[in-house]
Amino acid sequence: MARYGNGQSTGAAWRIGDLDRNLLLQCRTSQVTQAVQAADRTGSGLVVTVERGNLRACLDRARHLREVDQYRQPVLLDAARYAGPARMPASAPFDDGWIQRQRDLGLPVLTDSGYLAAGDTAGCLGILERAARLGDAVALLPMHAWWLADPSARRNLVRYVEVVGVPVAVIIERPVPPVDPVETIRGLLQLLGCAVPVLVLRADLSALGALGSGAVAAAVGTEPALRGLEPCRPGQPWPAPQPAQPAVLIRQCLSYQSLPSVEAALRRHPDNGMWGCGCSTCAGRDLTWLVNQPDGVRGRLAFRHSVDVLLALRAEVSGPSVQLNQWSWRARCATAASRLREVGWERLPMLTHWQEAISMPTLSRLTIPAPRRPDFVKGRAPSYRFR
Ligand SMILES: [Zn+2]
Repeated sequence: MARYGNGQSTGAAWRIGDLDRNLLLQCRTSQVTQAVQAADRTGSGLVVTVERGNLRACLDRARHLREVDQYRQPVLLDAARYAGPARMPASAPFDDGWIQRQRDLGLPVLTDSGYLAAGDTAGCLGILERAARLGDAVALLPMHAWWLADPSARRNLVRYVEVVGVPVAVIIERPVPPVDPVETIRGLLQLLGCAVPVLVLRADLSALGALGSGAVAAAVGTEPALRGLEPCRPGQPWPAPQPAQPAVLIRQCLSYQSLPSVEAALRRHPDNGMWGCGCSTCAGRDLTWLVNQPDGVRGRLAFRHSVDVLLALRAEVSGPSVQLNQWSWRARCATAASRLREVGWERLPMLTHWQEAISMPTLSRLTIPAPRRPDFVKGRAPSYRFR
């Protein structure tokens, strides 16, 4: 049973429908076949993101997933209307057909929200209120990081979410100056501590920090473009999608690295203790076996290894105490930053930002822990139908 940071039992506070701190894989429609093979186990699940606006293909694949593949882990569908050069604004109405098709498939209903710009209070309230009226939906908030980083905006956001009382799924656009990335994480932690279930989608390995901090579920993208939301700068062309090269998750570095880069690092630092892997794909071998696989299978095995490692990390960082989870995550980020330096790989700002956002444990914090979140079930939050 889950507990608050102060040791108080929360009962079902971590749960919403079938989601119980699941680490989801966020993939595109065309990647479902590969993702489902790796993520068909307890604690995982999928977020399928519509590709090039093709809602029908996404819905058809989801139906196949349930009826033919017999996939029983949680599945969410992301219409992705908030992204790309023709993105919709937060004020855009939801597509009734898209909402109903999710219900017909027996999936949790995720709204097909448009992009929530900085300062768009009417857009924020509009998404929340329209989602609440649906009665069974999770309100998707694909937002400018200002909403979390600015103290006043953050306060208002948490207040709106709690007052309307509808579960939310946030997608956080990559903060760019003057938005402070550390404050963005602090804002996220505050939102995760509120009285309403919160999911974090389309994330990088920050999803693990979010899960340990109270997210009902969090999704890590299967390719760089799905591990975050790139900002669109006024007057500049939309950022071109990066080609997705086969990459492998290096557990001790909390980061994905390309296979050629891993191969080179293995040669330079064969004995630094980073390469042995106990995941079910590697079965104790070091990653040399992976880079030596033939071209046809290397990418697939690297993918499976990466999912294995993600799910193992999920189990390690989502214990019953939020406070201990956060300290553990902070320590892992510090170690990962150090190991990245050791191997000569590019620094990962996310690791520094999480360390700065989470306060160091002190004696007073150890003896007088602060409550993290009220009991969702016994509180005033409404009930939802999740099929
Ligand atoms: Zn492995």
